[in-house]
Amino acid sequence: MATIALDPRLDKKAADFIAQKHRMYIDGKFVNAASGKTFPVYNPATGEVMAQVPEAESEDVDRAVRAARRAFDGGPWAKMSPSQRGRLLTKLSDLIEQNLEEFAELESMDNGKPLTVARAADVPLAADLFRYMAGWTTKIMGHTFPISFPGEYLTYTLREPIGVVGQIIPWNFPLLMAAWKLGPALAAGCCVVIKLAEQTPLSGLRLAELIHEAGFPEGVVNVLTGYGEGAGAPLAAHELVDKVAFTGSTEVGRLIVHAAAGNLKKVTLELGGKSPAIIFPDADLERAIPGTASAIFFNHGQCCCAGSRLFAHESIFDKVVEGVSDIASKIRVGSGLDPQTQMGPLVSEEQFQKVTGYIDSGLQEGAKATAGGKRAADKGYFVQPTVLTKTKPDMKVVREEIFGPVVCAIPYSDADLDRIAKEANDTPYGLAASIWTRDISTANKMAKRIRSGTIWINCHNVFDAALPFGGYKQSGWGREMGSEVLNNYTEVKAVTTAL
Ligand code: NAP
Ligand code: MG
Repeated sequence: MATIALDPRLDKKAADFIAQKHRMYIDGKFVNAASGKTFPVYNPATGEVMAQVPEAESEDVDRAVRAARRAFDGGPWAKMSPSQRGRLLTKLSDLIEQNLEEFAELESMDNGKPLTVARAADVPLAADLFRYMAGWTTKIMGHTFPISFPGEYLTYTLREPIGVVGQIIPWNFPLLMAAWKLGPALAAGCCVVIKLAEQTPLSGLRLAELIHEAGFPEGVVNVLTGYGEGAGAPLAAHELVDKVAFTGSTEVGRLIVHAAAGNLKKVTLELGGKSPAIIFPDADLERAIPGTASAIFFNHGQCCCAGSRLFAHESIFDKVVEGVSDIASKIRVGSGLDPQTQMGPLVSEEQFQKVTGYIDSGLQEGAKATAGGKRAADKGYFVQPTVLTKTKPDMKVVREEIFGPVVCAIPYSDADLDRIAKEANDTPYGLAASIWTRDISTANKMAKRIRSGTIWINCHNVFDAALPFGGYKQSGWGREMGSEVLNNYTEVKAVTTAL
């Protein structure tokens, strides 16, 4: 039940979807929470409630896990050929593309991101991911082995689905994160219970409708809306879940590891970051300045791989700061539905308080804002794109993930790559880095010295379904996407026959 009039700029399809009575998807049916409880969904551009969704708790989690278990252990899914699974994933990809505009509008309304961005990035990348994973269904293979044990043997490995998977996702790319999680799990033959982020449940609920329409057997995919503690925690702890895959904060990642200990379920984690963007004196600044600005300001800095520490050599530092600050101050901040908008509101009141709190703490500790530094409107969760200079290595803004449009620009005087890398690596995180230089030797030497799962050279935020993505150090366990992710969702079985 919608409690406010929806934005008149929305198409009827998206408006009708937001206004409909929302249900979760369990065992092939759209259902309320067992308790009948719901919770509100906010429009971050206004702070108003726009929908109510079911509040899943332990009982609903249990119902969903048991449905997934039945589907995995004996249902039609278990007997389905890889090629049939691939067809279903391809169909889902097609359905997402056919509903691209509606998904983009839901994403913009729910998360706050510009419609233009959701249309060009979130939704097509989600469709691509499912199509790419459809191709893998028929290519998940084992090996044969020439073993030396005395006698004559035929030995081979099978790669089998890991079983029932619990998945917990965040709000920064709601549909795309659901795709990153569901695509490989389904390609591998697993059954899934996914809990959407409380802040952004709408596109995942619409995706559940398309999963149903595509014809996935009942219980194969179950989609829950609920809070982290009420629904996420019992999912991570459930005894009948074989594996849990989580994306979100490092702090909650630790809770997931503890919750998983009961039945020692497998765990993969995609966590936070404090990624460096490093500009060398010889870089093409015409590219490096807009490139590093976009590295932090894309998706309002709400990216785990945001380039939130900008290192620039002292010989070009002032020019870089001036250029990035100029871009920051010209970014048009407004409602995501406005076609002129380049940056929307942050996702929630909580995130708004967190990000503005970091900016204030940086300024109080002596940092200087060369752009932004304040709230950007009287209502809604808008924050000015902010560039901080004169930071110290031990400041919170330099050490902690802000997850907002705030970059710390830091000069370095060194020519020694090891010393530059030491400073860039001085973080508990290791998700991504970008290196900006015209010298391929410097670029590739630096790529080896940075301890992170992704290195971009003269670019940042380039993603593809074929490329593995994930973290060193406290940025996570395992990799998303590419062929690598299939290791997260398969077990290896060695079969030896005495001949
Ligand atoms: P979060 O608390 O880690 O939430 C991520 C997901 O985990 C959500 O679905 C959340 O549920 C769920 N969750 C929370 N507590 C849980 C628990 N005890 N057991 C199981 N699941 C639980 O992240 P957030 O609060 O949304 O954002 C906080 C910070 O996390 C951000 O400021 C940012 O630094 C970081 N973050 C990182 C990423 C990333 O891509 N690596 C993405 C988002 C956020 P709810 O629906 O109730 O939140
Ligand atoms: Mg949360």
